[in-house]
Formats: sequence, structure tokens, C-alpha cells
Amino acid sequence: MKRYLLTPGPVELPESVRAAAAQEMIGHRCADFSQLLNQVEDKLKNLLNVSTPVVIIPSSGTGALEALAVNFLDEGDKFASVSCGVFGNRFREIAIRCKAVPTCMDVPMGKAVSPEDVADFVKKNSECKVLMLTQNETSTGVLNPIKEIIAAIPYDNRPIILVDAVSSAGAMELYPHDWGIDGVATASQKGFLTPPGLGLVWLSQKAWSYIENRKCRSYYFDLKLHLKELQGKSPANPYTPPVSLYFALDKALDIILAEGRDKWFKSRRRYANALAAGLESLGFKLLVKETAMRSPGVTAFYAENADTEAIRAKLSQMGIDTAGGQGELKGKIIRAAHYNDFTWTDLSLFLGALYATVGVRNVDFLGNAWNKWTEEA
Ligand code: PMP
Repeated sequence: MKRYLLTPGPVELPESVRAAAAQEMIGHRCADFSQLLNQVEDKLKNLLNVSTPVVIIPSSGTGALEALAVNFLDEGDKFASVSCGVFGNRFREIAIRCKAVPTCMDVPMGKAVSPEDVADFVKKNSECKVLMLTQNETSTGVLNPIKEIIAAIPYDNRPIILVDAVSSAGAMELYPHDWGIDGVATASQKGFLTPPGLGLVWLSQKAWSYIENRKCRSYYFDLKLHLKELQGKSPANPYTPPVSLYFALDKALDIILAEGRDKWFKSRRRYANALAAGLESLGFKLLVKETAMRSPGVTAFYAENADTEAIRAKLSQMGIDTAGGQGELKGKIIRAAHYNDFTWTDLSLFLGALYATVGVRNVDFLGNAWNKWTEEA
């Protein structure tokens, strides 16, 4: 039976991406691999609108976050951490394990981070040299307004701004250079429609200068070591990379760029808007109340008088895999991802399955979803 994978990573892979990953192996110290790496670099730079390299690390998103933490923070370093959910907390925890000292700003789950509040927080904690933010909080489906948050922080004396973009890059706008981000950590298995296993890290020129004279305690995650290999005569990874995943990422980037960045991002937003309209018509509540802060990649919802885990179990029986809540939302919400290039038919299939799990009848959930689908996103 065909199953539909709607978890927020890993996501279903386009057939051409799967086929690319199945190619015959090539050595990782040969011209073919250097060429593949250069190709992937060019496409990533295009997607992020940057000119400095993207370091590709064989790891999941957590590894990419760890790479930022171990390169920028040492024992006793003070950092400011803004969290609105499980993954903001994780980034903080990784930094704490580097023996760095946090100052925390916590926003309730389901709410977005406000630019003015972050600006105020940074002003009051000017001894913190690093600020950690999450763009898309996957545990709640909140998209934080990173561009506006950074714009609200006065340019002089800005800390190094590190952003967890694990569940945003590839699926929604993320222009780190243009927005003033210093470090981005992301991963292959969500917005990039690639199997799990690649962590991607981008740094600004200011960030590369900041770490120039710092000694990284980790070999595996030493970004300067990665950069040196990447900028050598034959670009490579410092150690054996998962070559198949590079083939897959290269193909997935082709799919996204062939559509065009803006069009691709708009399509994900359109699906999210139409899904929200359908869910609300069916009587579900969206966890994120502010519509502008809803993620184009993952939607969290619940039913006031129903057991969400029972609904998920029914969906699973129908062949649809969703994710549940995490942390304090465990057992309380359903999360459905939409990083893929889903069509109207995919959406109506999902809403139809949800219709079959709830007691409501005679509601025009498909008509309402269709109206949103046909609106300009
Ligand atoms: N940050 C965010 C925002 C995430 O969504 C995830 C994965 N769900 C992670 C970090 C951790 O990534 P991984 O599971 O790939 O290690």
C-alpha cells in the first residue's frame, strides 16, 4: 500500500532525487566529486542569494547546530538564546554543553518571537557576543520574522547572529547575507527534499573573521578546516562524505531552481493557506493564531474535543503518517508537513482523510480550501 509521509522531515523524495542517490559510487578525492561539490555550491549560493561558501557536513541538522556552537562558543562565553519551542531549546542546550553561559528569552509555544522584544533583549544583554534564533520552530509550526527581528537590532554592536534554519531553508525565504545573519545551520531532509544526512552551514564574512583566530575543539565540525578543503584546488570534504546524498541534493536543487525560488516558496505558502482553511472548516484549531506567523512548511493543529493521538492513529491506518506534539505539546497536536510540491489533489486527499476521522458532516471544507488554493499566496 502506498503510504503518505507527512512528517516534518524526512519528507517524501521526488523520484528523480531517489534515482540520483542510487547512482554508482565515485571516489571522494577525484575530479568528479570536486565538480559535483562545485555544482552543489553554486546552486546553494543561488538559492540563498549569497556569494560565500556553504559548508556541507555529513550530519543531521543537530550536527549543523553543533558546528555553529563549537566554532563560536567556548567555556565561559556568554550567549543570548531566544526560544519558542523544542528546537530553540535544543540549540541552547548544545551551546550549554560547550560550557557557554546562556541568557534566555522564552516565548510560549505557538507564539512567534517579536522583533521589538528581541531588540530589547539584545540591548539589555550587550555582554552576549552571540545571539541564537530559530527561523521555523518545527515543534509548533511558527515562522519567526527573522528579517524583521534582525532589522530591529541596531547595526552597531550587533552580536554574531546564528540562526537555526533546519526546517526553513529550501522551502521559504531565507536570505542570510541580505538580512544580516552571520551563521545559518540547516539540513537536507526537509526543505531540500533530500534524504537525511547532510548538515549545511553558511557563515557571513564577519563570522569567518570572528572565528579566524579561535581554535575549534572539534575536528569533525571545524568549519575552518572544511573551508580550507572546499577552497582548495580540488574542492573536497576533510573526510569521507556520503557521496550519494550529494547526488541527491544536486538533483533536488535543480527541481527547486527550475521552478524559480520565489515561485517555489509561494507554492508552499499557498498549500499552507489552503490547508489551514480546510482544517478550520472541519472544526480543527490551528495552534498558531497569527496567520502571518504560520509556517509554509509545517502546520500544527488540534481538535478541541477529540483525542489527537486517536486521529493520528486513524490517519496512519489510512496510510497517512503525520507527527504528534513534542515537549509540553506531546499528545496534544497533530503536525503535518508540506515541504513537497504537493498538488491540489494531494491536499484534498489529506483533508478527505481528516473528514473521515471527525464527526462533522455537511461542511464545505473542500470548497473553502479550493478558494484559498486559487488565491494569490
Ligand atoms: N532544528 C529544527 C528547527 C528542526 O526542525 C530539527 C529537526 N526536526 C532540528 C533542529 C534537528 O535536526 P535533526 O533531527 O536533523 O538533527
